[in-house]
Amino acid sequence: KNLHREGEKLITTHCSYCGMQCGMHIRVNEKTGKIAGVEPRYDWPVTNGKLCPKGVTAYQQIDHKERIKRPLIKKNGKFVESSWEEALSLIEEKFTETQAKHGKDALSVFGGVSMTNEKCYLVGKYARVALGTRFIDYNGRFCMSSAAGGFIKTFGVDRGSTLPWPELEHSDCFLIAGSNTAECHPTSIQWFWKARDKGAKMIVIDPRETPTARIADVHIDLKPGTDSALANGLLHLIIKEGYVDEKYVAERCNNYKELQESVETFTPEYTAEITGVAVEKIIKAARMYGASKRSVVMFARGVEQQSKGVDNVTLYTSLALLRGQIGKFASGVATFTGQGNGQGGREHGQKADLLPGYRKLTDPEAVKYISNVWGIDPKDMPKPGVSAFEMFDEVQKGNIRAMHVICSNPAVSAPHTEYVWDSFKKLDFMVVNDFFLSETAEFADVVLPATTWAEDEGTTTNLEGRVIHIRKVTEPRHESKPDWMILSEIAKRMGKGKHFQYETPKQIFEELRIATKGGKADYHGITYDRIDREDGVFWPCPEEDHPGTPTMFKERFATPDGKANLPVVAWKEPGETPTKKYPHILTTGRVVYHYLSGTQTRRIDFLMEQCPLPYVEMHPEMASQYNMQEGETIQLTTARSSMKTEVKLTKAIRKDTLFIPYHWGKELAVNQLTNPCLDPISRMPEFKVCAVKIEKIYEQ
Ligand code: SF4
Repeated sequence: KNLHREGEKLITTHCSYCGMQCGMHIRVNEKTGKIAGVEPRYDWPVTNGKLCPKGVTAYQQIDHKERIKRPLIKKNGKFVESSWEEALSLIEEKFTETQAKHGKDALSVFGGVSMTNEKCYLVGKYARVALGTRFIDYNGRFCMSSAAGGFIKTFGVDRGSTLPWPELEHSDCFLIAGSNTAECHPTSIQWFWKARDKGAKMIVIDPRETPTARIADVHIDLKPGTDSALANGLLHLIIKEGYVDEKYVAERCNNYKELQESVETFTPEYTAEITGVAVEKIIKAARMYGASKRSVVMFARGVEQQSKGVDNVTLYTSLALLRGQIGKFASGVATFTGQGNGQGGREHGQKADLLPGYRKLTDPEAVKYISNVWGIDPKDMPKPGVSAFEMFDEVQKGNIRAMHVICSNPAVSAPHTEYVWDSFKKLDFMVVNDFFLSETAEFADVVLPATTWAEDEGTTTNLEGRVIHIRKVTEPRHESKPDWMILSEIAKRMGKGKHFQYETPKQIFEELRIATKGGKADYHGITYDRIDREDGVFWPCPEEDHPGTPTMFKERFATPDGKANLPVVAWKEPGETPTKKYPHILTTGRVVYHYLSGTQTRRIDFLMEQCPLPYVEMHPEMASQYNMQEGETIQLTTARSSMKTEVKLTKAIRKDTLFIPYHWGKELAVNQLTNPCLDPISRMPEFKVCAVKIEKIYEQ
């Protein structure tokens, strides 16, 4: 298709939002440099010209009137515009003073993964080299950490998809757990449609009859928080009914006998009792999945954002392993990455315990290698810190005194937000980099204007594990600067300038290539030129003549003996279950018109016209017990807090469950209610299940 228009240039790039990273061209007026619009990229193999409502309007952020134009300093409780010099000098003074008084670890960094690989890499290096603190973690802890933990346990390495997405068209069965794909990753639905046209089956596991569940052959409407029982029940049937690929399991998996014994008691009846799902549906789903030849197990936050998120991931993954479906064409396991660079952003050292390339901070060889790349003494490498939510505990204890938040909005996206807001208030000093004044930025002492994704170049790694090129579309607006430049300038002021001598993102990528060399997420063979030439390169890619790895684990897994693990998981209740005081279950999720904490999408008129406010989905039977009506504002209360929102009646939800989308802040934030109970391995909070009570509000 000829998309070019007279007087405009088309810059080829990718959407800024979710892990699909849909291919797009941005139209720029050649004379004025103004953004004229967007066109889908029909030749991008992952999304074939599809964009969702968020992608179509993403460019409207660039010239949005609410962009932060200059650095802001809070004076007498109000933000006042300042020069960069004044803002950076204040940061230097406060950071230096804080560390002199309270030690290096009194500073902390809260990163994000809606940034390029180059920026994510630099955030880790900035915390450990420029600030010398062990307290660094990131918002991926609330997004991908359980998938990561599960993949490491089963496969030995964390890559979100074992197969390239276009192969989905040739699969014959999809088992999708805890993902409302049609709303959260809309452009991937085309692959399911194409496969279904050829006879593929779809099993969807979700407490709600989402638009995704509506098109399923079997919809398993389980009670929130019972995934591990359900998956154990499915494993029981796969084994009992003879669907196990015995040869594959014998040659390529460990621990089969133990798994077999552990699922023995998970009969369909027992599984049904725990999950609240009809026995026939469980049997039908197991037989449908068991009989398929090229199946894909896919999951997302619905199963991962639980205090047993890692367990859930390992059990659903074991289904695919028992069927011998990993390392083959059009088969495998995948998680739907939430944030744009949720994959790459977790590989390069933003996690509290990891260095670039998934190297462990507890491994002396890894510390030695990265110290050498960074030009520091290994003795100066900070020790592992704590996870994102636990950093707020450190603030409450008085151990963390200052925080630098980069590209993240935990005031909305963290659980138990009142605790987070209180922690921000307790800080002596807080800096935020962002391009809009987010709810988190409002707490800051200094806000630094960052560029949007279109005003800088770099790479991201999409949900398949494909490293792609984000091109610079236009010059930075107002006085905004890319995060890598901001961090380098602060590093210079903290006396570490010689480690941050970058003039372009490409130079950072060249360093990242060396830093990841030999690591589990190896980018050494990937260059900007190659990405452009080949339209993306899959990691691991150790050398420039290596083809990259679209299909993972063809011959061996990334474990020491090359075999996959089949962990045993005992059934455990979620952190909170309904009680007399809080008799219902609350779960949360996304809607198609908004992205994460909504900082960006709540500023786009079209998206707000479609979905301006949160609401609570409620089954009419529950509503009639309380005499509640459609559109009525009610109060919801959990052990942590209360909020008010409007009722939306629907039969597409379990009768014992309520659902609220989480894209709004302050009094509209559902995360005021959610439970910060953490998974013991991934430290993922239990966003998806808590006990709640509902009350009518009577006029005074
Ligand atoms: Fe594609 Fe996701 Fe952007 Fe929608 S939000 S256009 S699905 S990358």
